[in-house]
Amino acid sequence: MSRPAPFIVVKQVCKSFGSHQVLRDVSTVFNTGEVTVIIGASGSGKSTLLRAINRLEPHDSGSITIGGEPVGDDQHTLQKQRSEVGMVFQQFNLFGHMSVLDNVTLAPRRIRRTPRAQANEQAMALLRRVGMQDHAHKYPWQLSGGQQQRVAIARALAMQPKVMLFDEPTSALDPEMVQEVLDVMRELARGGMTMIVVTHEMGFAREVSDRVMFFDQGRIAHDAPPAEFFSNPANDRIRAFIGRMG
Ligand code: ADP
Ligand code: MG
Repeated sequence: MSRPAPFIVVKQVCKSFGSHQVLRDVSTVFNTGEVTVIIGASGSGKSTLLRAINRLEPHDSGSITIGGEPVGDDQHTLQKQRSEVGMVFQQFNLFGHMSVLDNVTLAPRRIRRTPRAQANEQAMALLRRVGMQDHAHKYPWQLSGGQQQRVAIARALAMQPKVMLFDEPTSALDPEMVQEVLDVMRELARGGMTMIVVTHEMGFAREVSDRVMFFDQGRIAHDAPPAEFFSNPANDRIRAFIGRMG
């Protein structure tokens, strides 16, 4: 096997909101092709890290690089990086007044200037991949939560990202819809996509991830391959957390 190539490098990143320090000296590397699951209590800084990678939230100190280029305020670099980083949120955030097809084609048409016919063709291929090809002309309100989230994944993939960030993508779903979304994510992982996934789905972490990272009060408290992480929890806080999540 070839040596993993670092794609996102996070070095000593700190972030505070007022006097509340949310990220404390976070350092890690996300390699190309790797699936990382991030777990940890609510408020431990998981979303803030994902948002900092995407510059939705500027960090205070330390550095983040994507493909060797620093994440910062340079608009040209930022636009390039954002097109390389797909993001899927807990709330699907589809555009309510647009059809499924238009939701998926919007960014390629606006940002890449992809001609409509070509954008439609690419979008239909993505919708097939997430099992939504028969719903292309529906509107978000006509879809279940699980279907909307699968469209949101297709929309993120439409920019042909190099990495996909998922922030609790199944937490807002009714239980019977969780699996269909996890199945799509599992397929993406199988296809070699680099993924960073914040989730409480321990089954997904065990079966799909290459590595599980445990956040505790703004720090990476533990980082290990899933077999090791779950069979031999590094400390009592992790053991308790895993116990609560099943
Ligand atoms: P997690 O995703 O692990 O639940 P977050 O990264 O969302 O945690 O939040 C970490 C902490 O930062 C929480 O205490 C949260 O209330 C706080 N926080 C997050 N975003 C903001 C913000 N924009 N302004 C103020 N506080 C925030
Ligand atoms: Mg969060």
